[in-house]
Amino acid sequence: MAEAGLLSVAQARRVENVGKQVRLQGWVRTRRDSKGGFSFLELNDGTCLANVQVIAEAALPNYQSEVLKLSAGCSVRIDGLLKESAGKGQATEVVASAIQVFGWADPEEYPLQKKRHSFEKLREWAHLRPRTNTFGAVMRVRNCVSQSIHRFFQEHGFLYVHTPIITASDCEGAGAMFRVTTIDPEKPPKSAGKVDYAQDFFGRPSYLTVSGQLEAEIFATSLGRVYTFGPTFRAENSNTSRHLAEFWMIEPEMAFFDLNDNMDLAEQFLKRIVHDVLTECEEDIAFFNQFVDDSVLATLQIVANNEFKRLTYTEAVEILEKSGHEFEFPVNWGTDLQSEHERYLTEQHFKCPVILYDYPRTIKPFYMRLNDDDRTVRAMDVLVPKVGEIIGGSQREERLDVLEARMRDQDLNLDDYWWYRDLRRFGTVPHAGFGLGFERVVQFITGMANIRDVIPFPRTPGNAEF
Ligand code: ATP
Ligand code: MN
Repeated sequence: MAEAGLLSVAQARRVENVGKQVRLQGWVRTRRDSKGGFSFLELNDGTCLANVQVIAEAALPNYQSEVLKLSAGCSVRIDGLLKESAGKGQATEVVASAIQVFGWADPEEYPLQKKRHSFEKLREWAHLRPRTNTFGAVMRVRNCVSQSIHRFFQEHGFLYVHTPIITASDCEGAGAMFRVTTIDPEKPPKSAGKVDYAQDFFGRPSYLTVSGQLEAEIFATSLGRVYTFGPTFRAENSNTSRHLAEFWMIEPEMAFFDLNDNMDLAEQFLKRIVHDVLTECEEDIAFFNQFVDDSVLATLQIVANNEFKRLTYTEAVEILEKSGHEFEFPVNWGTDLQSEHERYLTEQHFKCPVILYDYPRTIKPFYMRLNDDDRTVRAMDVLVPKVGEIIGGSQREERLDVLEARMRDQDLNLDDYWWYRDLRRFGTVPHAGFGLGFERVVQFITGMANIRDVIPFPRTPGNAEF
């Protein structure tokens, strides 16, 4: 345990601690010198958005030699008395009795001076950007969302399962895959003129996972309700503000759930996350609303307090066709909706989160349950303002004959899926699940325009510096 009196900045900002001798450790944000011969330091340690003000008097033994040289980025330890403050925006302040400098940050070279940098610029300093207000707030929200997700599932009787990161199954090609190999690309073993993957590490081609769903189904059909929460990799060459090559995904999978149960769960789940962030990260959300996107707070309140609008894909296409709105991509029944269509529905037409379901079978993977109309499958997408698709899911096809017919339709090799088919051969049950993109939800909640700014180290085409 830390020494007595050691407080975080978040704790030091609370009036209940006034009167205590405290010790704080963190990084200086600014120093201001008063004519009266003392200085104000703004100290931040990442525990909250706000800084605590430290008053450094000239009587400190190192006032001339060190305190007057402090600048943004320097790391210090402050001992002192926590007092009530008359200053605006702060309930407390610390009158220092000792200041120890751990590390200097040359103001000529330290990039994070007063000037505000663009988010693009800050991406080049991924090792320093967590010291900014915005990224500190993003990281605290990320942490809150992640805890909220686990709490929600644990309270609802779900089991957390760890599905593999290296896999030989490609989940119906949810996205282009990164290959995992120990073969020397300069001189690969060959057989009949082709690379011989039988000689590769796993004796077969293998990849980084694009989804844990198929494996999660194994556990749902044995243990009931499960979820995964892990890294996911897609080598899609899409330089958009909503795609990463490495992102985190949450995938619940539930036995004895149909599509309606699945939609209910997705809605309840998103509402819970939003509710937790609104109550636990109030200060950070207020910051995003003020400096990043002034509609964030109102949007979150809409999500928390309103029912999501549910309609079929077919109904959505009719609305889009009748809208009179000029879309870059035309809409017609049978094609996948583009992000502009999704955003029109949720932002302009309904002005609330929307769940679309029953999509054409031709644009969806084999494992989605076929409807009696034979044209649509029990798929669902949850759409939210600004981000568009945040969740994609479905009721799974539990009938072996229908599943196999759809696999043949899509030219899949049935033998590759022998274990997946076994789940339908032995005690098959109706079941359903969905995938939530973790960064998409953090993006939605913070209002950050680019997904690269809500993950510590974004992986995108051409970028893996850190
Ligand atoms: P999109 O159409 O937006 O590319 P998708 O339909 O390929 O997404 P799914 O396979 O349904 O995505 O994955 C489930 C969820 O994972 C999506 O709803 C989204 O929130 C998230 N997701 C998918 N691809 C990415 C990505 N490249 N980067 C970040 N999140 C992603
Ligand atoms: Mn999807």
